[in-house]
Amino acid sequence: MPTTHQVRVLIVGAGPAGYTAAIYAARAALEPLLVAGLQPGGQLTITTEVENYPGFAEAVQGPWLMEQMRAQAEHVGTRIAEDLIVATDFSRRPFLATGDSGDRYAAEAVIIATGAQARWLGLPSEQRLAGAGVSACATCDGFFFRGKRVVVVGGGNTAVEEALYLTHHASEVVLVHRRDSLRAERILQQRLLANPKVRVRWNRAVAEILGERSVEAVRLRDTASGAEEVLPTDGVFVAIGHQPVTAPFRGQVALDAEGYIVTAPGTTRTSVGGVFAAGDVQDRVWRQAVTAAGTGCMAALEVEKYLAHAAAGAELVA
Ligand code: NDP
Repeated sequence: MPTTHQVRVLIVGAGPAGYTAAIYAARAALEPLLVAGLQPGGQLTITTEVENYPGFAEAVQGPWLMEQMRAQAEHVGTRIAEDLIVATDFSRRPFLATGDSGDRYAAEAVIIATGAQARWLGLPSEQRLAGAGVSACATCDGFFFRGKRVVVVGGGNTAVEEALYLTHHASEVVLVHRRDSLRAERILQQRLLANPKVRVRWNRAVAEILGERSVEAVRLRDTASGAEEVLPTDGVFVAIGHQPVTAPFRGQVALDAEGYIVTAPGTTRTSVGGVFAAGDVQDRVWRQAVTAAGTGCMAALEVEKYLAHAAAGAELVA
């Protein structure tokens, strides 16, 4: 039987932003309920070693780090629901969210922390070799390609920045782009093309990633002639953009042209009072676990103030 859960604070998403918001909200006695979604732990569960999350002198495993955050959130009193929010109604009070399970969540305040997902090429070989040489995050995984050859796919700022970052580790970086000009900013293009470690294969699409247990090569297809070539490589970084996960909130809070939730500068406030957004779902620039955690903390502190004001207002009216 579907149930309606009455909660003070509903947190949607189980990445660093959601768990950090939960830790702060629970410690403020706001009894948060966190709905974990399809990929509890978020993007860090698809990386291997994490070396840039402060507090750990030795590298830690991404999935382990997320288990720790979850355990920490639960230890301080967060309830976690294994459900996926598929629809919301922020026009009414309390706010209403509906889960894939059929359960409904009625909340006095909501923190949206659903994150973003890397766009993938959609090749079966890309899925099969994910984590075995295929990555969507150079800052996470670039270090493992010290002295090796890598391919970066894409022509935007992310692809060019990832390619430049990878030149610090790899022996050779080949940027594969489907057109004959880059979308990236001019200054980034200049830096890229001036770097002796970088080669660009223009007008090429990745048709297949080759390798049994790890990446050994890519099969490229000329987008004009259809001719194919095999390019040996040890790693493939897919950098064809990210998509914020905002479908359940469309029409409820203001989104920008690319679908990110708009927050007031320096805050986690959305266009709806009482609804806050933290982490990659509202961040197109930094996209780091530690910055997501930071905005998760901000969101919980802002919720605490919001609910205190709401309670004070209610007393005045009564
Ligand atoms: P973009 O959407 O800007 O670029 C995506 C790139 O991937 C494009 O070159 C596109 O090709 C290519 N692409 C898309 N789909 C495919 C596909 N299926 N196969 C092959 N290639 C594909 O995404 P970014 O992540 O680069 O940037 C997102 C936003 O973040 C932008 O606004 C960017 O400016 C910003 N950003 C800013 C940074 C900075 O200011 N330092 C750093 C990183 C990002 P095509 O060009 O042919 O469409």
